[in-house]
Amino acid sequence: MNDKTCIAAVIVAAGRGMRAGGGLPKQWRLLRGRSVAAHTIAAFRTHPRVGPVALVLHPDDMAMAPGWEAHPDMIVVAGGATRAASVRAGLEGLAGRGVDRVLIHDVARPLVGADVIDRVIAALDTAPGAAPALPIVDALWVGAAGGTVEGTRDRAGLWRAQTPQGFRFEAIRAAHRTGDGSAADDVAVARAAGLDVRIVEGDERNLKITGPGDFARAEALLEDGMDIRIGNGFDVHAFGEGDRVVLCGVEIPHTRALTGHSDADVGMHAVTDAILGALAEGDIGRHFPPSDPQWKGAASRIFLSRAAEIAATRGYALSNVDLTLICERPKVGPHAGRMSRELATILDIEPSRVSVKATTSERLGFTGREEGIAAMATVALVKA
Ligand code: MG
Repeated sequence: MNDKTCIAAVIVAAGRGMRAGGGLPKQWRLLRGRSVAAHTIAAFRTHPRVGPVALVLHPDDMAMAPGWEAHPDMIVVAGGATRAASVRAGLEGLAGRGVDRVLIHDVARPLVGADVIDRVIAALDTAPGAAPALPIVDALWVGAAGGTVEGTRDRAGLWRAQTPQGFRFEAIRAAHRTGDGSAADDVAVARAAGLDVRIVEGDERNLKITGPGDFARAEALLEDGMDIRIGNGFDVHAFGEGDRVVLCGVEIPHTRALTGHSDADVGMHAVTDAILGALAEGDIGRHFPPSDPQWKGAASRIFLSRAAEIAATRGYALSNVDLTLICERPKVGPHAGRMSRELATILDIEPSRVSVKATTSERLGFTGREEGIAAMATVALVKA
């Protein structure tokens, strides 16, 4: 089984579930800017072994699918009055496409991982049906109407079922045709038709969105998986009287000094602002107001390490820094390595992740007239 066109998916999205709130069926509510349905469809469409995808919508929602309908390997069909009728509509929509195996999935599980899909597909090599599940680890009680514990149940051998539930295509299609439409899920349909269903390992991430709290859980899990943030910072300090400049914590003898409320380390300020920007935490002036006398003449490493600390507290690790210093003089190149190491030490990352480079502005503008030094920085933060 290597031909991806032989494995199809049916995504059942015909429900009207409003319990999750928001005044819309849950599959159309947004999770980090994309609908639940779009996340779920993407999980199958991006899987290397899954070919055609049948999306089963409520008849009232057919207009929600124009973008998807345009894909030749997507079929959008209207569902029926019951879940089983909707699945059957999806299976019939796939007929004639040479499908050997089909994965039937609830649209309300948008976080299904490629590994779960892989396990279901693999199990179908040796079984007519396969589905992910997790063993029950909590104690099971029987509660009386008033909320009193009346008894316990043995949890041995009990599982929490998930989807996608996978089957040999013609076998499940035939099972649905003969079923009475009352089955809770496709495993029940398959078993009623005498098909064995193998349990494969499920995933706690593969949660089913049902109530309002599930949106928050799903958003947190999504953030967990892929949150990368980019920030940029820009700063300028003017030259004044003096005999050295401090750039990225490195003192360089010069005929002038940079002026400013703190030590005027323009490079470190740009990196600090980039980190704060990536976190949408305002800028250096908000955290260290120039009006506050305690920051007069302060070493800028305090600002930078504070920004790094805020990032760490929020769960982000600094992936890399790229800083450009813009000036005619002093010459930065000979000191760039030390600057990189100095920043890396403060940020507690490898110097290979900190780039410090310099350019002139070809004698144009305020940096070209040697009135000051400008710095621009980009950083990337990743959720650790
Ligand atoms: Mg500054």
